[in-house]
Amino acid sequence: MSSSTFFIEIKGRVQGVGFRPFIYRLAKEKGFGGWVMNDNTGVKIKINAEHHDVMRFTDTIRNTAPEVAEIKSIDVVQTEAEAFFDFQIRKSKNHSQRITEISPDIAICKDCLQDLKTQTHRINYPLINCTNCGPRFSIIKEIPYDRHQTTMHHFQMCNRCKEEYTNILDRRFHAQPVACNHCGPQYELLAEGVKYSNFKNILSKTVSYLNEGKIIALKSTGGYHLVCDALNIHAVETLRQRKLRDAKPFAVMFRDINTLEKYAHLNKNEKTLIQSWIKPIVLLKERKMLAPSVSPGLNTIGAILPYMPFHYLLFEKLNTPALVLTSGNLSDEPIVISEQEAERKLGSIVDAIISYNREIHNRTDDSVSFISNQKKRIIRRSRGYVPNPVSLNLNAENIFATGGELKNTFCLGKDKSAILSPYIGDMKNLETSDFFESTLRRFKKLFRVQPELITCDMHPDYYTTKFAESFGLPLVKIQHHHAHIASVLAEHHIDDKVIGISFDGTGYGLDGKIWGSEFMVCDLNESRRHFHFDYMKLPGGEKAIKEPWRIALWFLNKLKGNSLDTEKYEFLRSVPNDHIEMVLQAIQKGINVPESCGAGRLFDAVSALLNVCTINRYEAEAPMRLEAMIQQGIAEWYPILFEPTIPLDQLIAYILEDMDNRISPEIISAKFHNTIIQLILEGAKRIRSTTGITRVALSGGTFQNRYILEHSENLLEENGFKVFTNLQVPLNDGGISLGQLAIAAKRRILLCV
Ligand code: ZN
Ligand code: ZN
Ligand code: FE
Repeated sequence: MSSSTFFIEIKGRVQGVGFRPFIYRLAKEKGFGGWVMNDNTGVKIKINAEHHDVMRFTDTIRNTAPEVAEIKSIDVVQTEAEAFFDFQIRKSKNHSQRITEISPDIAICKDCLQDLKTQTHRINYPLINCTNCGPRFSIIKEIPYDRHQTTMHHFQMCNRCKEEYTNILDRRFHAQPVACNHCGPQYELLAEGVKYSNFKNILSKTVSYLNEGKIIALKSTGGYHLVCDALNIHAVETLRQRKLRDAKPFAVMFRDINTLEKYAHLNKNEKTLIQSWIKPIVLLKERKMLAPSVSPGLNTIGAILPYMPFHYLLFEKLNTPALVLTSGNLSDEPIVISEQEAERKLGSIVDAIISYNREIHNRTDDSVSFISNQKKRIIRRSRGYVPNPVSLNLNAENIFATGGELKNTFCLGKDKSAILSPYIGDMKNLETSDFFESTLRRFKKLFRVQPELITCDMHPDYYTTKFAESFGLPLVKIQHHHAHIASVLAEHHIDDKVIGISFDGTGYGLDGKIWGSEFMVCDLNESRRHFHFDYMKLPGGEKAIKEPWRIALWFLNKLKGNSLDTEKYEFLRSVPNDHIEMVLQAIQKGINVPESCGAGRLFDAVSALLNVCTINRYEAEAPMRLEAMIQQGIAEWYPILFEPTIPLDQLIAYILEDMDNRISPEIISAKFHNTIIQLILEGAKRIRSTTGITRVALSGGTFQNRYILEHSENLLEENGFKVFTNLQVPLNDGGISLGQLAIAAKRRILLCV
């Protein structure tokens, strides 16, 4: 016998994704003896084989691994010869590694789509799944991930399902939610007080409702959606009225990738991302218009492809190739997950409610992302990502970071991992704080975390600050923009000083003012502010954030003084005279005019000044529309000098001059954006010249502006900087909790030394 014994170690996301059965089947096929097991660091394999067979074996592993697996490395070493008589899956001895077995929810796989048409016990079974796909996180109540610890526990498997579940050579071996037409959960449709349970009926009724332009509530993987025909103007407008949602863009589900390509431009990376098993919403450039009220004033579509069997079955029969698919909730509340809530809260909005009786235990929204400079960026991190940990290079055990106030996520430290909650939302109401607290309870239990050190924002009025204080445990308060930059450092394992540039709307500053245009030098321990924009005044405080015309008027008043002629400006024509008068008075008397240097406010003001958007109907509408209108191919910018704060009056004066000279708003918008990018470069250069630091970290909501993000990254790189941004967590406040956690972890280590 010339075969030898080899030890193979595979790292990456290789647990809880059907990896061991996959290895088992492969080894059996090749007739290798040996074993496979999970441990803390990944999957370990021992086999007896010839050297060249081992190489072929690892190639096959790389090329045919379950789609959800992500292999980071495969190491092979020859070891002392051992004799094996067969190949086995060894039980893992370590309990703590089980946390890594909680996989995110996975979109239906190709094989199951096939089975949906061919397997007699699963013909059109809308909750079909296998080891490679189906619900995971949304149904788990306790670890280890076994069926009786999920919301599938009261469904008895039929004999056929049981056979598949227990046969290691079957694709449904230990697929916990395995089910079929005979034994699994079922769909139900409720309309006009009548419940329907025959699936054929349900499907055809749903199809006719949607074809008729009606609105339905549909239970998906992590919560309910509100759904209607995205090409039906009347349906989309009705949905807006009923949901009381003025203008915020709706996501749209397209029948398939070919259909989507007719409506949006997709590059290679965007195609890969939108078709991946995560099935996120991807922001794409619009090619052909849907109903105009889907995303008014924007040139992008938030597109998503079907990810549940029911979605596919619908599109087989629907007339329309595209459906509006928006969160089933009331204004700012979390999405609805239970049937009772759906009836109570969505009943008056929709014409029918389609549910299934497998309970959603953990709520997850659809995740949202976009591609910029060939890299995936995340706007909302939820279904498909949660609860995958972010790996850290420092120990964060038992640290709890409460996150920010808007687009909240929280974060728990487990060993050298950061486990982020799903997207919780804006902490504006009781429902959202309940969601925050119940998710925290579940995460603590699921991941065996017992907070010992708490960390939060510095803002004294945030719910998340008060909640952090209520623990009575050691507490670390962290400046908002330091946390933004730290989230980048944490992701990229940087434990050193960087130039941190954080642009966003609002963050509580060390001087009690609102910050948001920060040029800092920081590491995971401390931060020092070097430059920022001049402070702007926000007449009416919160009101000015909602109504950017107020900030634009403040600039005009400052620049023009007594010679200000409000009649001259188009954007003020839609504002009642007495409101203008009131704002001017408030400015003069200095009543309720808090100061802010948030970049978001500057974008707001410019958007209002150009009469693009004078009132934000949803967060960041004004900046988004300003970005949407940029004329491409404009290289000019306004030459602003640092002195040492960044004088915005100068910038606005240039813009007014261009307006007087009848330069088109599209060109002015381009020049304005270019100016911001130049300022970013200039700030970075100045800091480099005094500190020698060449690494730049960019974070904050303003960098969701793709023009700013792409051009800043490129320009900085061209000028010799190494640029880092968020790739695993959102650039917006959804990433704050990771930064807080990393800073707290670092400070804890430093104090211990
Ligand atoms: Zn499957
Ligand atoms: Zn069955
Ligand atoms: Fe922020």
